Amino acid sequence: MEFLENYIDGTYQAPSSGLYLDNVNPSTGQVYAKIPLSGEQDLAQAVDAAERALPLWSNMSANERSAVLLRLAAGIEARMGEFVQAESRDNGKPEKLAAHVDIPRAVSNFHFFATAIEHFASESHYMEKVGINFTTRRPIGIVGCISPWNLPLYLFSWKIAPALAAGNCVIAKPSEITPYTASLLGKIANEAGVPPGVLNILHGTGPEIGNAIVAHPKIKAISFTGGTATGQHIARVAAPMFKKLSLELGGKNPTVIFPDVDIEATVKEVFRSSFSNQGQICLCGSRIFIHDNIYEAFRNAFVEWVDSAKVSFPSDPKAQIGAVVSQGHMEKILNYIELAKEEGGVILTGGKRLKLDPPHHEGYYISPTVIEGLPNECRTNQEEIFGPVVTLMPFKDEAEVLNLANGTKYGLAASVWTQDLNRAHRMADRLEMGIVWVNSWLVRDLRTPFGGMKDSGVGREGGWEALRFFTEPKNIFIKYE
Ligand code: NAD
Repeated sequence: MEFLENYIDGTYQAPSSGLYLDNVNPSTGQVYAKIPLSGEQDLAQAVDAAERALPLWSNMSANERSAVLLRLAAGIEARMGEFVQAESRDNGKPEKLAAHVDIPRAVSNFHFFATAIEHFASESHYMEKVGINFTTRRPIGIVGCISPWNLPLYLFSWKIAPALAAGNCVIAKPSEITPYTASLLGKIANEAGVPPGVLNILHGTGPEIGNAIVAHPKIKAISFTGGTATGQHIARVAAPMFKKLSLELGGKNPTVIFPDVDIEATVKEVFRSSFSNQGQICLCGSRIFIHDNIYEAFRNAFVEWVDSAKVSFPSDPKAQIGAVVSQGHMEKILNYIELAKEEGGVILTGGKRLKLDPPHHEGYYISPTVIEGLPNECRTNQEEIFGPVVTLMPFKDEAEVLNLANGTKYGLAASVWTQDLNRAHRMADRLEMGIVWVNSWLVRDLRTPFGGMKDSGVGREGGWEALRFFTEPKNIFIKYE
């Protein structure tokens, strides 16, 4: 049995508690590694190391930091196969997905921010005959990065890369459900020449080490991605300490399909937006609104396509849908399917746990599930399920669907499917979402602001937004004589 370790001050260390959690492979339901249960003592060591490293790292030229981060990107890329297998074993996702999305994207995150920092600039404001203001943007100091289990290394690196590029030292915590690829990162950081103490990776639970990071007085900013309830808790702890906060939270995203679409082509894309990563992407569309005129035709074609999807173990090259991440999460999803039935929903396909052949017979597989007949106001359509479950709802016109689409507490992302350019613009403008895709889904440009409105979060990641978040602006005025 492998025992993972914390990465503190450039070295791997056992947790001071001597205690570990089980790390389960969701595709088999078997424990395959142990995760350090870290606490305040481990955090104190990491913060000391980060404090010692800060003067060197924060005063290095952007060009030197960039070179280190480019080597880090190359180090992950050189071990692509190892990272892909580790990610899919930890998370249950098809290896094909980890190979095409998760790990290449982690490489791009480091590459992108390594190059972005060389172009990052701050403003100056000239005042005629009076003087000049100029703004410096210096690193904040020690920052905390806390990430979820759905896209483990992808989202971990989405925070760490800009934080490091901007010259901060980082205390990072991956999800305790999927810690493995983060635990590999320390080795790559050492090989890339990241100075000891600049990046520290602590494992353990949210209420213990996660909370300790948020509450530590020397950690000046928290970048968090996870559930809305956790985000509320973090804000309650961090706000009175005046920490900078970036919160990327849950969603209940609408997919809006107008009658002028090519049904066959749209069905395939909506399948992807609904069930990629077993529906465990914060951006997945889980409420599908279909115009009355094509409701039946679209529904029938969609259900047929979903029915033909292959649910299989992650190393099966034909797997389109793998295992959901944990037993607890599987039970939560199955409970929501029961709730949907109680609320009057009709299961058109899926709706149950699947038993694969040994050795995957105890894995956490759920058949992709399509439900109709539920109103937008019911709990199934208001609460985030975060699994392979979607509902279908008909609509009559633009005004009605806009109300329905905006009718939850969330505001993360939407996709709109139509050939009518004016309608696309109107909808995109009026949807209360941080991200709107038209005739597409999850097309990402790392320069664009990423994040949600309403209960989906505070602040934006990506591009200059992330570099601004991880720096402290100071305005300096010089008077002209
Ligand atoms: P979660 O909130 O349970 O956990 C996220 C991280 O926070 C984990 O590392 C966890 O250990 C830690 N944590 C938990 N309690 C904490 C506490 N009290 N203090 C500090 N840290 C704590 O979320 P999850 O179940 O891992 O992830 C799924 C959620 O993440 C979904 O709601 C999903 O929508 C959301 N998500 C959002 C985005 C986005 O960009 N908006 C992206 C991916 C996932």
